[in-house]
Amino acid sequence: MSFVDLHCDTIMGLMEAGADVGLQSNQLSVDVGKLRAGGSLAQFFALFVDMEDCQNPLEHCLKMADRFYIEVDRNSDHLALALNYQDVERNSAANKISAFLTIEEGGVLKGDLANLRNFYRLGVRLITLTWNYPNELGFPNSKGEYRGQGLTQFGCEVVGEMNRLGMIVDVSHLSDQGFYDVARVSTKPFVASHSNARAVTSHSRNLTDDMIKMLAEKGGVIGINFARPFLGSADISRIEDMVHHIKHIAAVGGIDTVAIGSDFDGISPELEIKDFGEMGKLVSALEQAGFSGAQIDKVCMTNALRIIKECLSDDNVK
Ligand SMILES: [Zn+2]
Repeated sequence: MSFVDLHCDTIMGLMEAGADVGLQSNQLSVDVGKLRAGGSLAQFFALFVDMEDCQNPLEHCLKMADRFYIEVDRNSDHLALALNYQDVERNSAANKISAFLTIEEGGVLKGDLANLRNFYRLGVRLITLTWNYPNELGFPNSKGEYRGQGLTQFGCEVVGEMNRLGMIVDVSHLSDQGFYDVARVSTKPFVASHSNARAVTSHSRNLTDDMIKMLAEKGGVIGINFARPFLGSADISRIEDMVHHIKHIAAVGGIDTVAIGSDFDGISPELEIKDFGEMGKLVSALEQAGFSGAQIDKVCMTNALRIIKECLSDDNVK
């Protein structure tokens, strides 16, 4: 089985671990060996910026992008940058894992579409519009008081410009009203890169059934998040809870709506799937739960590839 994982925080993990630790082999949940062992076709690498923990978020984000490129270059026998679907095909034919560059925190744009376009030119192909703080684009789902607060005018402009450029709009972390505004404004499918189902686990980071249906109507996907609090009430991140969420999202939005967004290296260590090399455990659990091979294929890879194909452009200079 091959996988497309829509979200990991491994670049942050590497930055924290220091210059001596690299992507080839490390103690984190994602490294080249683990990606190979688990069957990665494409991995999305987030540049996560904590706005309250950072003097200059834009500069910090650019430093993280530099680290991403250094790691891809150092591991060029196994990894290659991907900007669109054609790149994934070409990398795969060369037996290389595709690395997509993403940003988790639209605040790094500093309210300026010029920064968005420059990030596109730098290779960023997905942006999570907010993290857990309000920013120039909109409001997060970290506090109940933000739930009814939607996208700002600038947030709507960002969605429009991302549609035009060929970037994937990500609503994970966004307020409920923000979700509905993206659904209204976006002319392309969009994603919740790392979120689960709220009807299964009542957490504001998860999507309601109404949202799942709307996301499905727009052709989008939800990447199943392995973080324990979003999966259930167990003490650890359990595979059976992942299967429960997958079943529910498939029942509400259809199997075409389910993808993977592990959140590896951004989540606590008590994981039944402790690193990417163990992704086969999820496949086995889905088989045991009665999913067909074609359905498992969609969850692990094909649905995300559809988004890549539909949203990303083959024109890399705009
Ligand atoms: Zn996140």
